[in-house]
Amino acid sequence: MQVSAIIAAGGAGRRLGNAKPKQLLDIGGGSMLSHSLRAFLDHPRVSEVVLVKPAGPLALLLADLSSTQKLRTVDGGPRRQDSVANGFEAADIRSEVILIHDAARPFVTADLISRTIDAAAEHGAAIAALPSRDTVKRVDGGVIVDTIPRESIYLAQTPQGFRRDVLAAAVRLGREGIEATDEAGLAERAGFRVHVVDGDSGNVKITTEDDLMAARHRTTAATAARQRIGTGYDLHRLVEGRPLVIAGVTIPFDKGPLGHSDGDVACHAATDAILGAAGLGDIGRHFPDSDPKWKGADSLALLADAVRMLGEAGYQVINVDLTVILERPKIKDAIDDMRSRLASAIGVDRDAISIKGKTNEGVDAVGRGEAIAAHAVALVAARSSAIGHRS
Ligand code: MG
Repeated sequence: MQVSAIIAAGGAGRRLGNAKPKQLLDIGGGSMLSHSLRAFLDHPRVSEVVLVKPAGPLALLLADLSSTQKLRTVDGGPRRQDSVANGFEAADIRSEVILIHDAARPFVTADLISRTIDAAAEHGAAIAALPSRDTVKRVDGGVIVDTIPRESIYLAQTPQGFRRDVLAAAVRLGREGIEATDEAGLAERAGFRVHVVDGDSGNVKITTEDDLMAARHRTTAATAARQRIGTGYDLHRLVEGRPLVIAGVTIPFDKGPLGHSDGDVACHAATDAILGAAGLGDIGRHFPDSDPKWKGADSLALLADAVRMLGEAGYQVINVDLTVILERPKIKDAIDDMRSRLASAIGVDRDAISIKGKTNEGVDAVGRGEAIAAHAVALVAARSSAIGHRS
């Protein structure tokens, strides 16, 4: 069954008092609109997303979307129902079910989208809605005139889903001049029975400044929950006749690290930090000394391989901070080059890599110039599709 989703983002949403339309405001990890779009673009049962677009720099807005192949855009109309009608007319004629979603509900889950598709296919028209938890009063002039039985009160959300023929009739009615605040309203007026599917209390509509702040807190907390940290440490003896390789850069010196590989302490510490952050063990487990394959190995390649494993485990590197400790020579002039090489092995911007050089003040083996050591800390984050879309 082919499904199209219309994302209504034509409204100006100036209630938030911003110069920007509210759908373009950032809520963490992207605009409200990009979160809403991604929920549908990433949904396996949605074959096409029609964005009824707001005024503004659309190209910039769309730049952060992971996939735009399923996406087409149309201009909004003066009222919401005009915008949705434009979206409906642009939607693929082969779609049997059409969903309508409000861009101001960025936390819609894949499960809720699936439930709405199923109910719309079965009943012809279905919307997400939640039973009211509060008692509802009808008020006139500041005085209660009626108490409405709570059991019969449902609060409408989106998505709202319709079979093509049902939405066609609703849109026709709207084009003829009937006004409604949602498509379910038009479908009801057209004589269809609109079913309710269990909404989601997290699927909030962002309307006020408080809603916006709560949405930002929620995305920040979700981001923090996806982050993990790891540490790494390495030390090699310094001996004559070996090249001094640090973070892939060979520095002219009469001694270099003794080791099975090139003995690059910066790469080894960074590799352990990255593996450690994702709970993937350590460098000795993946690249053992006993394996002749790693003899004289370029440690940048080991590091890149660890990053590949990290990716397979669903993580990406955010940043790595390193301290390299050796008495001589000074490494200050090589640090920019070291950062570039680590950045390219790890696949991040150079800004994400930091390297500091220290001496050991003449103390201990490192201080006597008998060894070189490095400490590393790596921050990684689980890759996931947009925040809040996991069911
Ligand atoms: Mg080592």
